[in-house]
Formats: sequence, C-alpha cells, structure tokens
Amino acid sequence: MPSSKGYATSDKHSPLAPFSFTRREPGATEIAVEILYCGVCHSDLHMARNEWGQSIYPLVPGHEIVGRVTAAGSAVTKFKAGEIAAIGVIVDSCRQCAPCKRGEEHFCQEGVTLTYASKDRVDGSITMGGYSNNYVVDERFAHTVPANLDLAGVAPLLCAGITTYSPLRHWKVGPGMKVGLVGLGGLGHMALKFAHSFGAHVVQFTTSLRKKEDALRLGANEVVLSTDANAMKAHANSFDFILDAVSAQHSLDDYLALLKQDATMAVVGLPEQHPTFDAFNLITRRASIAGSMIGGMPETQEMLDYCGRHNITADVEVIPIQKINEAFERMLKQDVKYRFVIDMSSLNSLK
Ligand code: NAP
Ligand code: ZN
Ligand code: ZN
Repeated sequence: MPSSKGYATSDKHSPLAPFSFTRREPGATEIAVEILYCGVCHSDLHMARNEWGQSIYPLVPGHEIVGRVTAAGSAVTKFKAGEIAAIGVIVDSCRQCAPCKRGEEHFCQEGVTLTYASKDRVDGSITMGGYSNNYVVDERFAHTVPANLDLAGVAPLLCAGITTYSPLRHWKVGPGMKVGLVGLGGLGHMALKFAHSFGAHVVQFTTSLRKKEDALRLGANEVVLSTDANAMKAHANSFDFILDAVSAQHSLDDYLALLKQDATMAVVGLPEQHPTFDAFNLITRRASIAGSMIGGMPETQEMLDYCGRHNITADVEVIPIQKINEAFERMLKQDVKYRFVIDMSSLNSLK
C-alpha cells in the first residue's frame, strides 16, 4: 500500500496539521501520482470547517492537483510513468447513468466520488485529498497537461478554471455580450481571464477597490465597486449574463437589477449562509437565476487544452504546506492574488 503524508484537520475547529495515512495500490485502469502542486480552493476551507455539514474527519483537503505519474496499471492508455497528470474535484462516478455516459460525470445520478471526504467506490475507504504527497485515481478522472504551461499555475485550473469555463461556455459568452463577474478571488480571476479571452465586454464587480488595477490587467473592460450604489445603478438593465463567485453571504438583488430582460445570473459561489433574492427582481425582467458546478471530464480536458493554446494559467502565490493555516486566514480576508498553490516538495521536510 502506498504510504502517504499530508496535512489534515481532525475536526471543524482545529488547524491543519501533519498526518500520515495509506492509499490503495493502483488497479489496472489506475495511475499513482506524486503530487507536485495543489491549489487552495475556498471549498477546502468550507469543508475543513464543515460549513456545508458534509465533512468527514480526519479530512485532507485539496482538489486542484498536478503531479507526476509514478505507476500506471496494465490497462492504462493515457499516461506513462514520468508524465504529468492533473486531478480535479471528482475522482469517480457510476459511469453508467445518462450524465456519466455523456461525459457529464459531475451530474452523476448516483452521486460523484469527491477527491476528499467521500466514500471511495473501489474499497469503501474515505478519500483523502491533494494536500498530500500522492494520489491514486482511474485514468478517466485524470487529465493531460499542455507542455507549455507553468505547473503551479495549472493546478487551480482543475477547480477554479473549469468551474468558471463551464458556465461561460454553457451561456455562450462571447463577442457582443456584456458580462458581469462578481467577486475577484480564485474563481473570479479565472472567470475574468476566460470571459476576456472569449471576446465579451467584461465588467468586474468587487468589494475590494484595491484590486482595480489587477482587474484591468486581467482583462476587465470596467471595474465597479459593488458597495457604490450610484456606480451600480449606472449599469441597470444592461447585462446579458452575470456570474457570481462570492464565498460569503450576500444578496443577489443588486446584481439581478442589472440584468437585461430574459438574461441569466449564474451562481457558482457556495457560502455557508445561502444567498437571498427578491422575486420582484426576477419577474420584472423574466430573469433567471442558475447554478453551475465544476465540469465533466471531457470539458475539463477541453478547458486545459484551451489554456494551452491561449497560454492561460492562474495567477498564483506559491506557499510551503507549513503556511496553509495562514493562507486560509488570508483567504478569508480577501488577501490572495489570486490563488494560493502549495509546493508539495515542502512536505519532504516533515519527518
Ligand atoms: P476566494 O478566492 O476566497 O474568492 C471569493 C471572493 O468573494 C473574494 O475574493 C471576494 O471578492 C468575494 N467576497 C468575499 N467575502 C465577501 C463578502 N463578505 N461580500 C462580498 N464579496 C465577498 O474563493 P474561491 O476559491 O474563488 O471560491 C468562491 C466560492 O465558490 C466559494 O464559496 C467556493 O466554495 C465556491 N466554489 C464553487 C464551485 C462550484 O463547482 N460551483 C467550485 C469551486 C468553488 P472581492 O474582493 O473582489 O469582493
Ligand atoms: Zn474547488
Ligand atoms: Zn453516473
């Protein structure tokens, strides 16, 4: 059994701390990966602190994984030992239901197996995430990485990247559209890069005016301080699409009032307290509120290949794993530009 070390939390109040465990040997269609980098998603913080009420402890977070294949099962066709592989939020699904057959494994009718805090379909153990030195996964749930991209900047694509790429594609964001993005964090800054790359007119909403220059550099055509009521009003009834990637409780009303007739606001943020809205803001413009969750395996590969062609990666601050608790606190203070990524070689200094 591959022995693993990582950082785990033992309950919702405790900081992350060194933790040892074992993973199973890779089966015929599975690969074992030595993790090089793992991004720090706000979902890791929600889960470490059981803010969604579904956490299982001890909990090793991490689902933005890039690593090197160390072993490949006899039936593996996509990878050879020594190659780079990437793993995201899902590591298994039923593979039989209609969404799975369509390659929309994230909507599996039997429920997905998440990268951590989920029951493993193969051996019934609880999955342990990427804040660790290795992972074992079926090749269907691992992706190839374009060779031209910086690997630390690739890691966040596996969650922040696909979670924003997918809805922007689904709602056909492109030239001639005015698109609003709410929250300039890990997800938000990837949404900004993609929406700009897809050719839309992009307006970034933020509560942090200090991020204005960055937003313009990342591709925003306009930046609006969302607490400035007059600045918000100036955009009333003008958006074709708005994507909300906010991690804390807030009202959707300020943004719904900015949608054109028949337009959609899609939510990807998952705050502990649910967002609120006033139905008047929907009925007076026949607007829709929608949601979106990561993406299926084919679309995740499509997104990575798109990033390779357009040279898109996340803006990252690389940290040693010993700084993970500090990184969580800084994320809560909106003090991250724009994704922390753990350099997993820092685990080597652990006994
Ligand atoms: P993040 O890096 O912490 O960014 C969140 C952003 O939300 C902040 O940068 C900030 O933007 C804004 N914000 C924070 N507190 C706020 C407040 N009190 N009022 C208004 N705005 C506030 O988080 P992330 O990793 O991008 O994740 C964002 C959310 O998406 C999380 O809830 C996460 O769990 C969820 N998520 C969902 C999916 C999915 O599949 N749907 C996948 C991954 C993550 P400004 O400073 O610009 O205001
Ligand atoms: Zn995530
Ligand atoms: Zn399924």
